[in-house]
Amino acid sequence: MQNLIPLNKRPRICWDVMKKNKFEEMIPAELLEGIRENGIAYIPIGSMEWHGPHMAMGMDTLNAYEVSLRASSKTGGVVLPPTYIGTETARDPEILKKIGFSGNESIVGMDFPKNTVKSFYWPQELFESIVRHQIEMLRDMRYRLIVLANGHGADNQIVILNRLAQEYSCQRFRVLPVFILFEDGGVGIGHAGLAETAIMLRICPQGVDLGQLPARGQKLYNVDYAIVDNESFISGSTPDFSVRYDPRDATAETGEKLIAHAAVKCAEIVTKALRGID
Ligand SMILES: [Zn+2]
Repeated sequence: MQNLIPLNKRPRICWDVMKKNKFEEMIPAELLEGIRENGIAYIPIGSMEWHGPHMAMGMDTLNAYEVSLRASSKTGGVVLPPTYIGTETARDPEILKKIGFSGNESIVGMDFPKNTVKSFYWPQELFESIVRHQIEMLRDMRYRLIVLANGHGADNQIVILNRLAQEYSCQRFRVLPVFILFEDGGVGIGHAGLAETAIMLRICPQGVDLGQLPARGQKLYNVDYAIVDNESFISGSTPDFSVRYDPRDATAETGEKLIAHAAVKCAEIVTKALRGID
């Protein structure tokens, strides 16, 4: 339907009051006002990946989108639609040994042999090309700070986003990759464990069914469920290769705290970066 209010009669946008920040819902005049105001655009990026038998596969992207929306309501700026495209590579034998495998298995990302469905891991070049084009289109619209809000911790995804940031950033334009799972939120982070399950219970409860996991008291072994603490990937698992941060302890309240913390941290990083642009 045609909007009959002339552009010059419309009230100026106030981010604090309106909280309108979804790119796809904004008319050109609103986009232009945001570009003039601070020129921040968030691109939420994640994956479509196995997250245990108890959780939906869009977790990383849903989380990146939620954190982007909340951070942008603090910093101003627009949020692009969520990107359900992520990438992964074959796991190093040393990492596999750390989490309970022999090291001889051929495993890509979190697609462990006992999983019932496969993740959508996109080729690295295609992933890079899609993000690259999004950056360029936003730069052409005169955005000044592109936040790559990444919810998927794969090494190669992080390397690609960092490389794009280096390639495109200059004095007047900045690309800022931010991994939106923070270690200091009060709960150990990891893949499909307590933290991610709690976040999902808060933002998408229909995407969690804890009844799919064994009863409490039974251990969750990394290799059986493809649920792995971050510190297991980095420094090694528990002696019996079970999960430390148990998804069965997750609550929506914990999820809310983690998301709120991530939004504050993300907004701080973005605000600091914006100050460094001419
Ligand atoms: Zn995840």
